[in-house]
Amino acid sequence: MTRPPRILIVGGGYVGMYTALRLQRRLRRGEARVTVIDADSYMTYQPFLPEAAAGNIEPRHVVVPLRRVLNRCEILNGWVVGIDPDARTVEMRPHSGPPRMIDYDLLVFAPGSVSRLLPIPGLAECGIGFKSVEEAIHLRNHVLAQLDLAASTTDEEIRSRALSFVFVGGGYAGVEALAELEDMARDACRFFPSLHPGDMRWVLVEATERILPEVGPEMGRWTLEQLRSRGIEVRLGTRLESAEKGHIVLDDGTEFDSSTLVWTAGVKPHPLVKASGLPLDDRGRIKATAALTVDGSSTVFTAGDCAAVPDLTKPGQMCAPNAQHAVRQARTLADNVVATLRGGELTKYRHAYAGSVASLGLHKGVAQIYGVKLRGFPAWFMHRTYHLSRVPTFNRKVRVLIDWTLALFFRREITSLGQLAHPRQEFEFAARPEKAAEARPAG
Ligand SMILES: Cc1cc2nc3c(=O)[nH]c(=O)nc-3n(C[C@H](O)[C@H](O)[C@H](O)COP(=O)(O)OP(=O)(O)OC[C@H]3O[C@@H](n4cnc5c(N)ncnc54)[C@H](O)[C@@H]3O)c2cc1C
Repeated sequence: MTRPPRILIVGGGYVGMYTALRLQRRLRRGEARVTVIDADSYMTYQPFLPEAAAGNIEPRHVVVPLRRVLNRCEILNGWVVGIDPDARTVEMRPHSGPPRMIDYDLLVFAPGSVSRLLPIPGLAECGIGFKSVEEAIHLRNHVLAQLDLAASTTDEEIRSRALSFVFVGGGYAGVEALAELEDMARDACRFFPSLHPGDMRWVLVEATERILPEVGPEMGRWTLEQLRSRGIEVRLGTRLESAEKGHIVLDDGTEFDSSTLVWTAGVKPHPLVKASGLPLDDRGRIKATAALTVDGSSTVFTAGDCAAVPDLTKPGQMCAPNAQHAVRQARTLADNVVATLRGGELTKYRHAYAGSVASLGLHKGVAQIYGVKLRGFPAWFMHRTYHLSRVPTFNRKVRVLIDWTLALFFRREITSLGQLAHPRQEFEFAARPEKAAEARPAG
């Protein structure tokens, strides 16, 4: 008996998970097997990361367990390190043990993107990105730990360093992360009698002359005024020159020390894209057709942040790397995979960017959707309603709604669970008090 063809999906993020969900629904029993490979066992709903960092949503509720939602697919966890389109195989390294070669009949290649770093001295050592739930959890604990430290030290230098927070990159990831964390820290200050919100220094460094281009120039200007009115230093037309040992140097001559450097200055295709041997454009993205096949191939499909997909609503341009396109591309991609299996016609992907919504802290937001501009509470409410409608699965929607409802009645938690990063610290201290006490991190 011949085995049904295998559809192999590399990456279980937006594109990978939504493609698998649709295939699971559309494929007839025995028509094909679907295998999803991802380094993690969950998909991250990235637009909720700022709210998870601010403590408005429980971090576990912004991730979707792949095995639970893709119960008719095979899920493998590990790193894909190479593909061979001629042999139709993918090499995968599980987190432990020997590598595996996985064969496929049709491949969906969607490893997404990574932070785009620049060769700035000290950045790789001191900085952190804002793309994963682990980074969001860390930043929440870290910011609260800095408040604890500032309230406990008598050393002015340590205090000022702890209370200085720097974000580089004024797109939605940077602006939302900074605005939400600043809002959380301002709120937390009420429980620190020796700290005043004005003691904190929040700095947003942006190389261009605008922030939040996703909501258009007018709303971007409004957001700038909003952030500045909260005491946030927004430095436009400015670049980070160095960050060695946490000493921040900007190209306008400003220098100060900071324990927090968050790098949100854009993304680039995942390094696996370069190693894949698939055709790339001048920005390192995989060249895709409007039908979401890889240029020159009828068996490899791609979409999302790693792909250069023609934007048919703006001739000559490519779709921007965002969730709005990724979700819709996944739908067309899955339909085209089914059409390929059944010998049908492929559909071209076409979607006009609808605009964006961004939250700027509790009850604060900005939005421009289909030309409608909203600011303040209505925009924040729209942000929540929109993303609640979008977050995958009924289970997640209910959990997020419960988190928000609880937050209406109880204040945010202000405890820093700093030991999450060093879970064995207490045990080591018990085993070897002298040695472990010396190695205890300062905060
Ligand atoms: C903080 C933040 C907020 C955002 N807010 C918005 C918003 O409000 N609106 C919007 O439209 N967009 C938003 N985005 C952008 C949006 O999340 C991305 O465009 C979207 O996730 C892209 O989907 P993707 O499937 O291409 O990549 P991803 O969702 O990143 O998925 C890629 C997957 O591939 C896996 N992977 C990578 N390499 C390998 C490998 N070698 N082996 C195995 N698995 C691998 C990864 O683990 C990951 O699960 C935001 C992004 C961030 C970071």
